[in-house]
Amino acid sequence: MVTKPAQTIVSFEQARHIVEQQAAEVAPGAAEAVELFVAAGRVLAEEIRADRDLPPFPRATRDGFAVRSADVAQIPAVLEVIGEIRAGASAGESALKIGPQQAVEIMTGAPVPAGADAVVMIEYTRRDGNRVEIQRSITSGENVVPRGSESKEGQLLLSGGTRLTPAAIGLAASVGNATVSVYKRPRVAILSTGDEVIDVAASPEPNQIRNSNTYSLGAQVQSAGGMPLMLPIAPDRAEPLRELIEQGLEADLLLVTGGVSMGKYDLVEQVLKQLNAGFFFTGAQIQPGKPIVFGRASASPTEKVTYFFGLPGNPVSTMVCFELFARPMIAALSGASPNPLRFLQARLKSDVKTKTGLTRFLPAQLSGEFADTEVELVRWQGSGDMVSTARANCYLVIPPDRETFATGETVSVLPI
Ligand code: AMP
Ligand code: MG
Repeated sequence: MVTKPAQTIVSFEQARHIVEQQAAEVAPGAAEAVELFVAAGRVLAEEIRADRDLPPFPRATRDGFAVRSADVAQIPAVLEVIGEIRAGASAGESALKIGPQQAVEIMTGAPVPAGADAVVMIEYTRRDGNRVEIQRSITSGENVVPRGSESKEGQLLLSGGTRLTPAAIGLAASVGNATVSVYKRPRVAILSTGDEVIDVAASPEPNQIRNSNTYSLGAQVQSAGGMPLMLPIAPDRAEPLRELIEQGLEADLLLVTGGVSMGKYDLVEQVLKQLNAGFFFTGAQIQPGKPIVFGRASASPTEKVTYFFGLPGNPVSTMVCFELFARPMIAALSGASPNPLRFLQARLKSDVKTKTGLTRFLPAQLSGEFADTEVELVRWQGSGDMVSTARANCYLVIPPDRETFATGETVSVLPI
């Protein structure tokens, strides 16, 4: 009889660091070109460099008058207006040069003419024919962004491995990339297990449970930048379970849910052990999600090695373990540079009492607004309670070394 692998239970931080270490070893898939407009969230497989100086000319940041700051040291100063430069003015139109006691009317986004070193806002001027009275003095450089001060031509702006945020997309656009090279989304196989688990479309007997984990995981995989692949539900029997696990190991990552607890019919670890899997850990000191398993295996000795997670079957445990551990692995398989997990801080809205020993990630709700963000646990019936969890918008993170937390204390949260 095949038994479970030797048990390695680690702390939450150890578990996370083990995953991060392994994630640092994986190689992303091939690159593909996608249109920049729909590339948000994808990971760059190329460098983006400045194709010219940014800004390409000294840019006025206000509507007003381009002046020599020395001319307006004493105010009010009256200057001669020798022309106007609007945004988009041609080189000819903007080829004005201002001399002593002269000014040019200028618009936001227009090139500041030669000779001028500052722009006085229109609010501090009074125009009278070809004269302008300047009512405020100004220091050299004010309201002007010098040519090349944001970036020089050829400078690296975004390196490979950058996830494309809206700002990164805007930056790529500003240097002329209508398409970008990004890594293909990793294929993530999802295998739900359990004799009681049936397809969503089937009519359940009273003793049966609809498969919700494949769907919540599918959504999480997509939000992490992966391509979810749904496998059929595996029964709690070694043979068919093994076949489906082998299929799942063909993907870039395998997520198994259920079958990793201590029960007699929790066979996932045994089957993986039969496949000569290596296990990095077989449990973490967390709640929910304590039986989480992380390792790697191949479907056969000649095939590639694939990382897998054995996620506890309780729906909230599955989701929490995905957030904490599977997400960074999918990021790495997508080619993204590693990111540490960071919690945000909020003020506790009502007291919390727990037992020590486990790091807890409890469904909670953020409320309040602006700098006055509060958090409160949602009432739940434990890690199988999707009804309550669907009302949560974060997990309240409770460290393993304290029992009570008072209203008003600052606590950590993981937004979802
Ligand atoms: P297990 O981890 O297999 O012991 O399952 C723990 C609990 O999660 C049991 O109550 C299962 O019925 C439930 N469960 C397991 N897999 C799923 C699934 N795919 N969808 C919904 N509930 C599940
Ligand atoms: Mg089960």
